[in-house]
Formats: sequence, structure tokens, C-alpha cells
Amino acid sequence: MMNMTKEEMILASDQVLMQTYKRVPVVFTSGEKCILTDSEGKKYLDMMGGLAACGLGHSPRVLVEAINRQAAQLIHITNYFYNEPQLELARLLTANSFGDKVFFANSGAEANEGAIKLARKYAYTNFGPEKYEIIAMTSSFHGRTLGTLSVTHNEAYKVGIEPLPKGFTFVTFNDEKALEEAITPNTCAIMLEPLQGEGGITPATPAFMKKVRQLADEHQLLVIADEIQCGFGRTGTMFAHEQYDMIPDIMTLAKSLAGGFPIGAIIATDKVASAWKPGDHGTTFGGNPLACAAGTAVFQELLNLEIPSKAAANGAYFLEKLQELVDKYAFVKRTKGKGLMVGLELDFPGAAVVEKAFDKGLIINCTAGNIIRFVPPMIITKEELDTCVTILDEIFSQM
Ligand SMILES: *Cc1c(COP(=O)(O)O)cnc(C)c1O
Repeated sequence: MMNMTKEEMILASDQVLMQTYKRVPVVFTSGEKCILTDSEGKKYLDMMGGLAACGLGHSPRVLVEAINRQAAQLIHITNYFYNEPQLELARLLTANSFGDKVFFANSGAEANEGAIKLARKYAYTNFGPEKYEIIAMTSSFHGRTLGTLSVTHNEAYKVGIEPLPKGFTFVTFNDEKALEEAITPNTCAIMLEPLQGEGGITPATPAFMKKVRQLADEHQLLVIADEIQCGFGRTGTMFAHEQYDMIPDIMTLAKSLAGGFPIGAIIATDKVASAWKPGDHGTTFGGNPLACAAGTAVFQELLNLEIPSKAAANGAYFLEKLQELVDKYAFVKRTKGKGLMVGLELDFPGAAVVEKAFDKGLIINCTAGNIIRFVPPMIITKEELDTCVTILDEIFSQM
């Protein structure tokens, strides 16, 4: 296998893999910090960070060591039993958030799926079977399972697989009045990303977040904050909702929780978590010692390196530099986002820019059609951010 050329590997892959992705024709073989190396030895600056999952960069020493150590000791046992790494990570997550209790899953979609189930079970237990409806936001993204597609706004993801589960509605993101009007006696929860990722790097407004909490308290609803992409220091605070006058009841995490190792988590208050009794939810892999040891290593490093404040400072610097491109080129509309979760809005589809950047050794991606998205490893340096802006400037100057 290792003797294959890049072209042979791509051809062979397409023969045996389901064609659900439009992959870039490159084979990556190694990574260090913010730099990826392909099978031909070419190096790239990774401003995509494995879709915001590689928060500490590629193969950080602390994560490699934790995985090696734990793999040699104990990989998996199921949740029929206790294990120490799970306790350690749950303690870190509850000590550093509003939450009292954690449920571990294996991915973002799975965490959200569980959060939906928990919110419904809570409402069922406390208010009866009629209170089950969940209000989600336009431009939202919560995952690709049937349940999470029910709260994901993009219609294109739903074609050909309906009917989806019932009991979900959408309101315009950041529209307080629309939210207020959408609440009925059947509503049990409001679900949102404090900073929308996939939908276009759009932060919630302070007024909207305040209203979410106020309406939730008034109508006895739960607030589910999906911090899968915006959590873990990326926006400048450990969790994005901390920048608002809004404490959620349930929060979901995944992506950079274990620095690229698959994991997900549901965090909730004692009051909400108590709706789940033994047998109500479960997973084979969730919370296994290996994933939790990886998560613990990443979390401790986030705290040690003071990643949230670094992301705030470097993010502010990056937004300033990108603003220069907005000022220079008429077709570059505006910057979006906070910290190291940043968007650059173009007035045309961004795919061509992504492709040109790739040829120049810069990995970015495009979301919502015309928003260039930057979710780099949070250890990125100012020099690397400068490199990114210089490459974009070169590309724009030729358009
Ligand atoms: C990526 C993402 C998900 C889904 O996570 P998966 O691990 O891909 O299932 C859910 N919500 C948000 C906000 C995300 O960015």
C-alpha cells in the first residue's frame, strides 16, 4: 500500500469509500502544530484545524503521551464499570463550567442527540407528555443524525431521507420577537449555537441571548447551548456563552474536547440531569478510558497555556489584519466572529478562493457559500496569521 503514488491512493480510496465527501485531491501523512505535510512532502498552513477539532494543533506532545500511556494501560471497558480517566475529565468539565453532571458520547451529533432526549425527558417528567417541542434557529447546524437534522436548518441535508422526527420548529436567529411568538405550551427547550459555525460564523446578539434565558425561565423551558465548535476557549472564554447574560441548562461539546480524538459530552445542571435514570440513555464507547485520558490531557493544557485569553488576543489581531483586506477590496464585505472562530464574507462564492489558497499551501474552507471560515489550532502564532493574510491578499489582488 505504502508504495502507491498519490494518484493511485486517491483512485483506490474512491473505489472503496462511500462518496459522501467532495475531497480535495491530497493525502496528508503528518502534522505538527499548525503545519500539515502531504504525501509528496509539501507543507501547508492549516487554518481549518480538522474543523476546529485540533485545538492544540496536530499531534501535540501532551496528547500523544496521554494516548500512548492510556492505550498501554486500558483502552475500553464499557459503562458497566467505573474508570479513573472518566472521573478526571468529568471533574474538569464540571469544575470549569456551570454544569454539575456529564454524559460522555463519541461525537457532536451524538452529544446533541442525547441533549434533545434529555430535554424531552426532563419536560416529560416535570410537566407531562405534551411538552416536547424544541425551538431551533435558522442557519443552525447540530449534526447529521435524524434527530440532529431535525434541529439543523439547511434543507439540502434533508432531501431524500424524510420523514424526520417531529416536534421541532425554527425561528430566525437573533430575532427576539420571533422567538417569543414561537413559544407554545408544548415547547420544552430552545436550542442554539452561541456563535453559529457552519451557518456562517454568526454570533448571537447579547439582547437575543438575554431574551432566550428570560423566555426560558418564564415558560419553564430548557436552554441547550451547542458549544461543539465555539467552546473550549475558541471565542476568547472557555465557553462562548460566558460572554453573555445567559447560562444554559444543557451544553454540548465535541470537536476540540480531546484535540482530535473522537469524543462528545453533554453537560447539565443537577436539576436537569436528574431526569435521566439508569437505562434512559447509553453508549458502548462513550467515556472510555482512552478518549477521556485524551480529553483530560487537552483540557489541562488549555488551562496551563491559558488558551482562552490567547485566542482572544490573537483573534483580535487576526480580525484587525483581515479588516485591512475588507478596506482594500470591494468584494470582501466584512469580517465575522470572535477569537479564533472567524469568517470573512465575500460577495461571491468562496470555493475558488479556497482552491487557490490550497495551491499556495494555505488550508481554509468556505461555509454558507460565501464565508471563508478560519478555525485554526488555538496555538497559532501571529506570524502564521500574518502568513495567512498575505496569501489571501495575493489571491485577492489577482481577482
Ligand atoms: C460539527 C458540529 C456538530 C456535529 O458534530 P459531529 O462530531 O460532526 O457529529 C454539531 N454542532 C456544531 C455546532 C458543530 O460545529
